[in-house]
Amino acid sequence: MPEWIFVTGGVLSGLGKGLTSASIAKLLQSRGLKVTPIKCDGYLNVDPGTMNPIEHGEVFVQDDGGEVDMDFGHYERFLGKNTKFRWNLTSGKVFKKVIEKERNGDFLGKTVQMIPHVTDEVKKWFRDIAEEEESDIVIVEIGGTVGDMENQLFLEATRQLRNEENSVHIHLTLVPYLETVGEQKTKPTQHSVKQLRALGLKPDIIIGRSEEKLDKSSREKISLFCDVKKENVISNPNVDNIYRVPLILGEEGADVQVLKELGIDAEERNMEKWRELVEKMNKPSSRVKIGLCGKYTDMDDSYVSIEEALKHAGAHLGIKPDIEIIDTESIEENGTEVLKDKDGIIIPGGFGTRGVEGKIKTAKYCRENNIPLLGICFGLQMMVIEYLRNVCGIENANSTEIDEGTENPVVKQLPEQEGIDKKGGTMRLGGFEAKLKNNSQVANIYGSEKIKERHRHRYEVNPDYHDLLEDNGLIISGTSKDGLLAEFIEIDHRFYIGTQAHPEFTSRFEKPNPIYRSFLQSTKEW
Ligand code: GLN
Repeated sequence: MPEWIFVTGGVLSGLGKGLTSASIAKLLQSRGLKVTPIKCDGYLNVDPGTMNPIEHGEVFVQDDGGEVDMDFGHYERFLGKNTKFRWNLTSGKVFKKVIEKERNGDFLGKTVQMIPHVTDEVKKWFRDIAEEEESDIVIVEIGGTVGDMENQLFLEATRQLRNEENSVHIHLTLVPYLETVGEQKTKPTQHSVKQLRALGLKPDIIIGRSEEKLDKSSREKISLFCDVKKENVISNPNVDNIYRVPLILGEEGADVQVLKELGIDAEERNMEKWRELVEKMNKPSSRVKIGLCGKYTDMDDSYVSIEEALKHAGAHLGIKPDIEIIDTESIEENGTEVLKDKDGIIIPGGFGTRGVEGKIKTAKYCRENNIPLLGICFGLQMMVIEYLRNVCGIENANSTEIDEGTENPVVKQLPEQEGIDKKGGTMRLGGFEAKLKNNSQVANIYGSEKIKERHRHRYEVNPDYHDLLEDNGLIISGTSKDGLLAEFIEIDHRFYIGTQAHPEFTSRFEKPNPIYRSFLQSTKEW
């Protein structure tokens, strides 16, 4: 039987519940335990694939093709292992399942109710995952904030499960500092615990998020008023580097207290390699400027995986990447001046037409000026369009995503993908193998001719143009397993590589993705 950790959040959203949970999971994993993360989201979308990244942050793509909450990115980056679509429960997914069962007649004439039918489904889901993964510990992160109507279903399932199995409940809250009185304030935490109590839940451990470390008096108050042991009040102050969070929580004894509450033993904590990497990150031997030329510039979370992949590479290479997100619409208006001080450029994935010509200009600028460029998915498509327009002389080359009736559809939906219009089912999603050309730059970077990366796109480089591209010096250095689709492109250049995949999704703190590592390295080498 697995042990359960439930993580809830109070006071505010956006406190870093995912990071905190991933950090605790990491500490326990370092003690030899097999930890499986589950995330529950209250919204009614079946998955976040259809949500605007500006509203929801990045959609994280899993190896099995799942499109999930970006907290799964933290889990993968911290734990160094693949997660599964099933591990992200949304209200939408759960209700859909229950309604399907009802239509199947599985409830034998009963009135189907939130309790027990929906909560039973949630508990069954949790338990099935625990069993399938042969987990020692399952850490269930409940999205949202206590008091939201949306996550009540998951909180009620948690209450029931806590009566049935061995578990520990961690509640994460905000402890604000009130400047006028010069004091940390614990009242919001007390109130959020009250709300939990009203739902029949009593946390064992409280983690206080604050600007500075929790002071003695705050710890005492939280312990007294929220009814938790003093040593179970854990401080989680702001940090400049998210990879320090597990180290800080370790110093606070978060893992020790979790194990104590569960009443189980584990090996010694072993975070030495992690600590060394964090230290290396804090003392980089050089810095480089990276321009991330996309369109979602209003929200920091839209390109999390790319930024983290660059940081991972940087930690291992001793390079600090200073990343600036540049709206390519501004390049359309003002030209490429803004790129001049950049050591390397990334054109990330994207959808739709806004800022497209700016991306094409960016690709041209990098190609002509020998500036390292990594094109991700949409980025590769833009590189191909640019090459056909400016090198192969096909001036009106375009993608049908941008101009449906273009005479030269050099990027288009292939027949297998056309005509499916149900959202979610239309994309090439998840991990796909690619064959890399012997001795190509990418094969040398990966050190292999057979690799697997994750995809999330509808359009492909039109195979009718492959020969023209290659005759003009662009190398299709990686293809799909069947040899038909262009997966990687490159030219003879310092670094000018495009990939139809999203290698950022497989980058881990302890094991950076080779393409990002090589890209970052190239920004320093002439
Ligand atoms: N919009 C492009 C496509 O669907 C690229 C998608 C992406 O960059 N993830 O093919």
